[in-house]
Amino acid sequence: MDPTLRLLKQLIAIDSVNPSLVPGSAGEAAIARALVEEFRSIGLTTDVQHAAHDRPNVVGVLEGRSPGRSLMFCGHVDTVGVAGMTRPFEPTERSGRIYGRGSQDMKSGVAAMIGAARVIAESGGLESGRLIVACVVDEEHASIGADALVTRWRADAGVVTEPTDLHVAVAHKGFEWVEIETEGRAAHGSRPGDGRDAIMRMGRVLAELETLDRGLQGGRAHGLVGPASLHASLIEGGRELSSYPDRCVLQLERRTIPGEPEGVAGQEVERLLDTLRQRDPEFRAASKIMFSRSSHELAPDHPLATCLRAHARARGAQSDIIGMSFWTDAAVLSAAGIPSVLFGPTGAGLHGLEEWVDAPSVLTCRDALVDLARDAREW
Ligand SMILES: [Zn+2]
Repeated sequence: MDPTLRLLKQLIAIDSVNPSLVPGSAGEAAIARALVEEFRSIGLTTDVQHAAHDRPNVVGVLEGRSPGRSLMFCGHVDTVGVAGMTRPFEPTERSGRIYGRGSQDMKSGVAAMIGAARVIAESGGLESGRLIVACVVDEEHASIGADALVTRWRADAGVVTEPTDLHVAVAHKGFEWVEIETEGRAAHGSRPGDGRDAIMRMGRVLAELETLDRGLQGGRAHGLVGPASLHASLIEGGRELSSYPDRCVLQLERRTIPGEPEGVAGQEVERLLDTLRQRDPEFRAASKIMFSRSSHELAPDHPLATCLRAHARARGAQSDIIGMSFWTDAAVLSAAGIPSVLFGPTGAGLHGLEEWVDAPSVLTCRDALVDLARDAREW
């Protein structure tokens, strides 16, 4: 069997469900041990970097024969949970598809980038520069792996091998999570003169948020990722049926697009609360940004993107320059000064009950990565 597909099946068979997403699950320690073995068998210099206790990044390095530009391949080895799946860790192959948790997101991309390093190492090595193959933890939760990686490793260019159907993605959205708390006054349900209903007050906030979202979705659209949007994610409030609720807490997610400033969602929410305060002096509410990750954008005509697309096309892929909706570690790499694109195999069902990757696309991805690494002068 092709060593890249052999590795892919080996990786699927190792449970690496993110323990921050699903408490008590396996995490990345076991898969890291397999990766260390794989890197040794290829002859890569291997660095194990603990992003947290039992959460090891594994980084392999192939040095060229002379100094030159450095290229980083980066993929996450954690997966989302497996509830409801039958045999998530038994890779099965049917009519050119390989099934199993992580097959598309993104053990296939990880196998392709490691497979590329193997092809290069076994066919004379790298003429110049340096290839860094980074397997990182925790992308599905807080990306502590990528955050740790860029404190130690830098490169002149990066490819994150998330699944893109062999397109080259140069942009994706970011996100901000905002919490809003409305304040009421607890009172017996029979005494409307005493009570102030925090949940009803949150209703006013929700109505304003819906208007804001309509404006966002009908507003400026990024050429590759479309317009920004927001949605109310979680809401909580009230103590019992017979009392006025003294507080209500809403957590929302605002998806951002390239070009929007940091903290845009927090500012929008504060403006909206100000409007409500002006309408009703008794309205009390506070907000805070809980967590945010920036969007990502590389110029569509950046040589890294156009060069990779050319190699993918030369290997037979119908490759275009695209944008992705979901956030990825490419944003962490580019924020650290590593111009990055996304490029990975074809498949379906990521985070779903039936996940698969198209096996030939894994090999096409690998081969295009080989060509890119050998063509450092082009990017
Ligand atoms: Zn992923």
